[in-house]
Amino acid sequence: MNTPHAHKQACRVCGRMLDAQAEQRGLPVAPKVGDWSVCLYCGAVSQFGGDGILKRPWERVPEEVGRVIQVIAEAKGVSA
Ligand SMILES: [Zn+2]
Repeated sequence: MNTPHAHKQACRVCGRMLDAQAEQRGLPVAPKVGDWSVCLYCGAVSQFGGDGILKRPWERVPEEVGRVIQVIAEAKGVSA
């Protein structure tokens, strides 16, 4: 997957390094303020702040993000 690495940073929950962003179909994307992020290691949900850093979500998690969380949880063999 060819994804941008400009915002490489640690997950705010588990600390694992997150080194790429992609939209739901896997296409590369540069995150904007308020864009959502789901950690593929621990399932933590974050939003990108104006500084490009992942923050605790300040908005209600949209349904489509909830589905991503569910898929990750199922892939990891745990229930969300
Ligand atoms: Zn994490």
